[in-house]
Formats: sequence, C-alpha cells, structure tokens
Amino acid sequence: MGSVYNWQIGRSMEFPHGQASPEEQFAFVININRCIGCQTCTMACKSTWTFSKGQEHMWWTNVETKPSGGYPKHWDVKTLDKLSEANPEGMTWAESEAKGRRNPYGEYQGRTIFEAPDTVARGGSPNRVLGYLPADEEWGSPNIFEDTPSHGPSAPMDFGKGEELDDQGSKHKAWFFYLARLCNHCSYPACVAACPRTAIYKRPEDGVVLVDQSECRGYRKCVEACPYKKVMYRGTTRTSEKCIACYPRIEGNDPEAPGVPLETRCMAACIGQVRMQGLVKVDEDNVWINDRYNPLYYLIHVARVALPLYPQFGTEPNGYYIPPRWVPIAYLEQMFGPDVEAAIARYRNPDRELLAVLQLFRRSNQIIARYDIEEGPKVYETERFGEKFEMYNDTIIGFNRAGDEIIRTQVEEPVFVRPAKHANSI
Ligand code: SF4
Ligand code: SF4
Ligand code: SF4
Repeated sequence: MGSVYNWQIGRSMEFPHGQASPEEQFAFVININRCIGCQTCTMACKSTWTFSKGQEHMWWTNVETKPSGGYPKHWDVKTLDKLSEANPEGMTWAESEAKGRRNPYGEYQGRTIFEAPDTVARGGSPNRVLGYLPADEEWGSPNIFEDTPSHGPSAPMDFGKGEELDDQGSKHKAWFFYLARLCNHCSYPACVAACPRTAIYKRPEDGVVLVDQSECRGYRKCVEACPYKKVMYRGTTRTSEKCIACYPRIEGNDPEAPGVPLETRCMAACIGQVRMQGLVKVDEDNVWINDRYNPLYYLIHVARVALPLYPQFGTEPNGYYIPPRWVPIAYLEQMFGPDVEAAIARYRNPDRELLAVLQLFRRSNQIIARYDIEEGPKVYETERFGEKFEMYNDTIIGFNRAGDEIIRTQVEEPVFVRPAKHANSI
C-alpha cells in the first residue's frame, strides 16, 4: 500500500498504487434540483455505446429514484453497510484548521474502502478493496422504485409537516429525488486498484478510466471493488466494460465539431439542463489548481454548491452534485458529506455570480473552459429566508479551450412575443 493525498477527505490515505495525477481531470456537475427523471441521458448513452448483444443489462449512465431505488439494487446501502462494519468506532468529519482546496470539507475520520479490507472478514483470497459482487438479478432494473417517495408508494405527502420550511412555506414530509449517475473517473479508482492484470488504467492526459479489452480476463474484481458499481461484466465477451467518458468527444474527434472538445453524450443530451462537464487542472496531489473562471472550479471551490458523491468511500470521485433542497439533511450528509447544509443555503439564495454561472448549464455542446460576466441592471429584489435577494440581468459569456466565445446568454430569459398574425398558428 502507498500513501496518497485525498482532498475530499482532507487527509492522506492508503491506496494500492502510488500517487499520480493526470495533466487534466475529467469532471462533471449535476444539479439534482432540476433533474426531471426523463432518462434522456440514459438513452443517449445506451444508444451510443451499449446497444449490442451481451450489453442488454448495461446502463453506463442511469437515473435512479432515491431513497429506495438503485442500480444495481441497493448498491449504496450495501456498500455503506460494509463500511459501517469496518468502522465499528463510527465515521465522523472533524473540522480542519485551514479549510481550503486541500481540505474544504474538513477531515474524514474513519476508514475508506482502501483502508478497511483487513478489518472485514471476507473469506477466500485477500482483496485489495472493500466491496461486494452483485448477483446477476440485481442488474435487472435500472430504475427500480421509480418515483417512490420515502414513506412508500401510497403514503400521503403530508404537506407542511417536514423538518423545515422551504421557500413556499411548506415542506413535504415524504420526499424523493432523482440521482443521475455515471462512472466518476475517480482520482483513486477502486476498479484500477483491484484489477490483478492492470487491465484498467487512468489516462494521463485527462484522467479518464478505461478497461483495456485485450488485457481483461473477466475476473470481475473491478465490479466487486467499485463502490459506485459502475463497471459491468459482459458475458458474451467475458470482459468488463464501463463508461468511457465519450473520449472521442472530449478529445475533439467527434464529427459534430472537429478539433473542439465536446461534452459527452449524456451531458449534451440533458433535457433538464442540469449537467455540466469539463476538464480541470490538478497538482501532483490531485488537488485542484486555482482556475477561478473555469465554471466547474467556481461551482465546487468558490461557490461551493456542488459536492462529491459519498466522499467517505475514498476514491475521490470526479462527479459532483448540487444537493436537493427538499430532502432531510441527515440523509444528504451521509451522501454528500458535512458541507451539504451550507451548500443548499448558498444555492437556494444565490449571489450575483452564482446566478449567472448557473445559466451556463447546457447552453453549449462544447466544453466551457472559462466564463466572463458583463454586468447588467438590477431587475428584481426581494427577501428570501430572512436575507435580501437581488437579481441582476447580467450577461454571461462562455469560452472554449481555444479562447473562442461559444455562448452568450443573460440571467433574465428573453421573451419573444408572437406577432398577432401568427397567434393561433404553429
Ligand atoms: S466510479 Fe467505479 S468504475 Fe468509475 S473510476 Fe471510480 S471506481 Fe472505477
Ligand atoms: S460519458 Fe459517455 S460513455 Fe460515459 S455514461 Fe455518459 S454517454 Fe455514456
Ligand atoms: S436528461 Fe437530464 S433531466 Fe433528464 S434524467 Fe438525465 S440528468 Fe435528469
């Protein structure tokens, strides 16, 4: 075991391979508050990459209904149970003195999936990572318990009896939300750590994690190890497969825009405009380098509204989520770490810059490398949650890697009035 630095848990940790970092890192943000569960992303991936024989059960990206759903069935509950078993003294987050890019959420005090194996009886040959292998039937339902609220499918919604008030003055006691998931192209991938043939690797240029099909022998150690269960076994080829981050698109090799990095299929297809994907710069410890006007850097390290999924697993996932406002905080803290309440507070009462950056979601298929804001007039003001809220009609401009302007939009959506002569036509 080597020692590597994991900024999401604010400390060094054990990892079977040494410290390494890519030139840039694939990353994405998904705004759960706006996901409508339409599954367009799911089908965009399916129809592009996993439509062949032997891939019927494979959904590299899927959208599941929380808290009950999961693909494979109960993947997170099962992994959390194992982690709890490996941490009999509990798992907590301690405040760190210097909160910054190296430890924004404090320090996780507990074992990660890389530090737990010795503490859990597993039988058979020793594993490098804490995990489990789902049974075949657990992969059968990519959105089991769709739209099922926390109190069960037929429970009343109980308006106004929740733990706190939302901005309409009421909160449902029963709740659910859509969690869109894909491979997180982790900085410390459990799938890479577990593979006995080093058939899985992390690309040095963009941190994308791939399975070398010519090297894989289908041992499924990666399937067992990935805590997010985003590697899948294909019986027809006896190899494992996973999300490839649509690498031809981010390399700029898609015929849609030759030479220009494009967002992946599942990001670009999002109807709800909730997904943003890009590349970020990291240092030798995989800590993000200050890139103030990269929208991903801004959302995660400046506005701090987007948080990693299950940071306590220890893989340093590169998928981030703006947590849903209507869900009990205790549930969300387990899922997104200790900063979740503050992140929701920042999101529900956004400042001027955050409101502008949120307009960039799904405005372009090209990867936005940098943004700029031109200030506009104040158009609205009110009070929300006891604080003043002001809205300015600022213009936000997105640039691609080459520095070309690719999108220009405003906070206030333009209104087009149909001329009277077309009033009843389509
Ligand atoms: S999410 Fe799973 S499959 Fe993807 S890189 Fe991380 S450990 Fe590997
Ligand atoms: S990034 Fe590409 S391969 Fe990965 S889940 Fe999305 S569409 Fe599928
Ligand atoms: S396409 Fe977008 S809105 Fe629809 S389910 Fe996927 S993430 Fe949610």
